[in-house]
Amino acid sequence: MAGVYISYPFCRQKCTYCNFASGVGRAAEEREYFEALLAEVAAHRWEWTPETVYLGGGSPDRLDPADLERLLALVPGRPWREATIEAAPDDVSPDKAAEWARSGITRVSLGVQSFVEAEIRRTGRQHTAAGVAEAVWILRQAGIGRINIDLIAGLPGQTAESWEESLEWIARLAPGHVSVYMLEIDGKSRLGRELLAGGSRYGAAEVPDEETVALLYERAVAALAEMGLRRYEISNFARPGEESLHNLKYWRLEPYVGFGADAHSYDGRSRRRNAETAREYVDRFRRGRPPAVETSEAASDERFFLGLRLAEGIRLDAGGRRLHAAAIERFLRAGLLEESGGRLRLTDRGVLLSNEVFQEFLAV
Ligand code: SF4
Repeated sequence: MAGVYISYPFCRQKCTYCNFASGVGRAAEEREYFEALLAEVAAHRWEWTPETVYLGGGSPDRLDPADLERLLALVPGRPWREATIEAAPDDVSPDKAAEWARSGITRVSLGVQSFVEAEIRRTGRQHTAAGVAEAVWILRQAGIGRINIDLIAGLPGQTAESWEESLEWIARLAPGHVSVYMLEIDGKSRLGRELLAGGSRYGAAEVPDEETVALLYERAVAALAEMGLRRYEISNFARPGEESLHNLKYWRLEPYVGFGADAHSYDGRSRRRNAETAREYVDRFRRGRPPAVETSEAASDERFFLGLRLAEGIRLDAGGRRLHAAAIERFLRAGLLEESGGRLRLTDRGVLLSNEVFQEFLAV
């Protein structure tokens, strides 16, 4: 069954580490974007009934609940099996949560990143640990029990002790899903530019080294496992049955359609990508041009790379095995891949070096 992704690339602030095509927009810009987005969804000819919906891209929780309802009313299949909205913890209010639940939202992904005040401030975010606890409580009161908390390993100034503090908060709040991303500093982010310039703003002088980040990540894997949150994808951990059904579609190559700026679609054969920035997206809408700027055939071995991200790994067909025989053999010998039950998967060490593994396969 297929999924729907809706992008709302506006945020209250631009986080210091963020390299997404998102930003702070003027009210008029946001309005115009929303009208273009509505038009794109309304014009879509549905070939299937969606099973999951995911609102992300920036901060879709900024949408007025009445506007969110107008948008979701255009998507067939309500009540969906899963409908997620990304939210900043300090933007969750009882009224909003109740309206979300009425509109069919079943899951909220909270952009927490850290529970440690000094680390949070350096990202540019405004919440506090107590505020996150309140948001979780509000959502549960509204009947939205499926909650994800995003964490980042490797924030400036982060240490083994401060990381422990964030993990303790996770244990206390007991969300069913946690995402842990290892910070990759991109030259396009404010933090990345500061680092390249040798400055110290945003904590640029205190970015942990790669080895420390790997240790923080490994500690999270162990601590989350103790809490019953199993790693099912490189960055994603869940209690059984709480995995993100929508995100699983990306890794299992099931079809999805994306609306809005920088949204991607995949119909089982080809991929389509919309204009990257909100400005370009709105501009195309004004000129009566389609939102998509690129369509390409899906690469034959995508299933291979995406499937390897999952803990369940991939079942190798003869073609894949032949094509990648040398690399598979080398990584099996190096202990980065393992094979059992006819499936190939990354080992714990392989997960840490996954970029290297994927690059090697891509080079074939
Ligand atoms: S990290 Fe998320 S909330 Fe922060 S600027 Fe980027 S898209 Fe917006």
